[in-house]
Amino acid sequence: MSGIKSNIKDILDFIPSSVKLISVSKTRDLAEMEEAYEEGIREFGENKVQELVSKYDNFHKDVKWHLIGHLQKNKVKYIVGKVSLIHSLDSIELLREIEKRFSKENELAECLIQINIGEETSKTGIALNELQGIIKEVESCKNVKVKGLMAIIPTGDEEQCRRYFREMKTIWEKQKKQSFNNVSMEFLSMGMTDDYKLAIEEGSNVIRIGQGIFGKRL
Ligand SMILES: *Cc1c(COP(=O)(O)O)cnc(C)c1O
Repeated sequence: MSGIKSNIKDILDFIPSSVKLISVSKTRDLAEMEEAYEEGIREFGENKVQELVSKYDNFHKDVKWHLIGHLQKNKVKYIVGKVSLIHSLDSIELLREIEKRFSKENELAECLIQINIGEETSKTGIALNELQGIIKEVESCKNVKVKGLMAIIPTGDEEQCRRYFREMKTIWEKQKKQSFNNVSMEFLSMGMTDDYKLAIEEGSNVIRIGQGIFGKRL
């Protein structure tokens, strides 16, 4: 069995069935992705629009594509009808562009709101105090549905990681109890290769794993 296949098997054996695994295939070629596909993977994550679109055109049609990287407004038009979930909704301006472009093609955009939980200037995502404003705007959309929250936490030791994951879980739970048009808090996307086990323990139900499946990115 190849490294890719046994890595996937190990992860799937470990995670509960309630947790969704997204294989992060950025920088990986179609042959590598084919091995993941053969092992049953149908959800792939990309961080660049161009790479997602090119792989969409050249890979299996029953695959669901997740955009996990920052999305520039001028690139929204390229992913209409191709993306299954946008994990990186991070501004009202971007929301308006998504609503505009997806409406035009009569397509539905499912999105997660990305929160910059560590308040790092190097990272995208909204500040926590912007959450209600963006949700309010989502309520009046016709072609956008918010399905949950996403975070990339700061690097740190186990205790620090747990603290950020827990904070996200609390925000997500609180939001879950409220009722807004076009918003359902189904997904909490957090956890990558180095910290997905902690993330699941702290309540994540979507993990995004790249190197843990495909090996180290150079
Ligand atoms: C690259 C990337 C991942 C996967 O990271 P790994 O360390 O390879 O598991 C997850 N989420 C986002 C947003 C990424 O850009």
